Amino acid sequence: MKFSKNRLKNIMVIGTGGTIAGTGEAGKTLSYQSGQIEVNDLISEIPDLKSIANVTSNELLSIDSCDITGRDWIHIANYINEISAGDEIDGFVITHGTDTLEETAFFLNLTIKTSKPVVITGSMRPSTAMSPDGPFNIFQAVALASSEEAVGKGVLIAFSDVIYGARDIQKISTFRVSAFSQRDLGCLGYIRDDRIYFYSSSTKKHTFNSEFDISKISELPDVSIAPFYAAADFHILDYLREKSKGIILSGAGCGGCSTVWDKKIQEFMMSGFPIVRSSRIANGLVTSEYISQKGIFSNTLSPQKSRILLSLALTQTDSIDKIRSIFEIY
Ligand code: GLU
Repeated sequence: MKFSKNRLKNIMVIGTGGTIAGTGEAGKTLSYQSGQIEVNDLISEIPDLKSIANVTSNELLSIDSCDITGRDWIHIANYINEISAGDEIDGFVITHGTDTLEETAFFLNLTIKTSKPVVITGSMRPSTAMSPDGPFNIFQAVALASSEEAVGKGVLIAFSDVIYGARDIQKISTFRVSAFSQRDLGCLGYIRDDRIYFYSSSTKKHTFNSEFDISKISELPDVSIAPFYAAADFHILDYLREKSKGIILSGAGCGGCSTVWDKKIQEFMMSGFPIVRSSRIANGLVTSEYISQKGIFSNTLSPQKSRILLSLALTQTDSIDKIRSIFEIY
């Protein structure tokens, strides 16, 4: 299909549930249930959408995002890969619960094979709150997904007037409307009403440049996170090794832990079992320069994002050296 440059873009809004589709006591923000309103009803309550895009919708899930699984991620990625290969849809918006939004975003950023915009949004207040933030976030997400500037930038997030990138976004507030940040790395830009202002983009590999192919798998290799804290029992590492294909250390400082944990981690790595060192700290790097052991390092990825990257890396290779270089590229 050929269109003129100024035609309205065809945007598909994919519903997955979350607070944005939640309902509860009128006027309140507590004690609501996620994923109660269908995405089609959500968008039909925003008449202004018609002036910025031709919007269609499809409900793929209707859940609290804490219940999302690797199978769900694979399903969403395969669906977008299939639809984006045709020429009917120019861009996608995904409505999602905010609790695991950053994880779904990073997974899709590594597995979607299109340069078409894919924008995720959500809300902190349910639809029945006194002043819900969902409708405006959807409006801005559709504006971003319709923007030429969003093409080829990887999976993006539109939330409370700000544009974030999937690799670096993290939820930083449990209840405030401005709930996300890229921590030290700022943000990619702003949205005022429906006007898009980009100022930066990620230099890391994503979407159409990514090597990960999930078209033939239905399950992801199981990777666990081991949280280190002062006096933490090292036996958790043995337990997690039994049940997983890899472990992410959520370490102190730049991926540090106690002498007994260090010894165990070294022992596992020597036997070929992958352990990635990441940090519980919000800002800064975890890289080999700061730790004498030979290992795999998360760079700036959080433990939950390192988990996704290790899981995808394990779909390709068991080699510790190859996994280490994957963590340097993505
Ligand atoms: N736990 C819910 C979810 O992620 C609420 C968080 C939200 O959407 O803001 O779906």
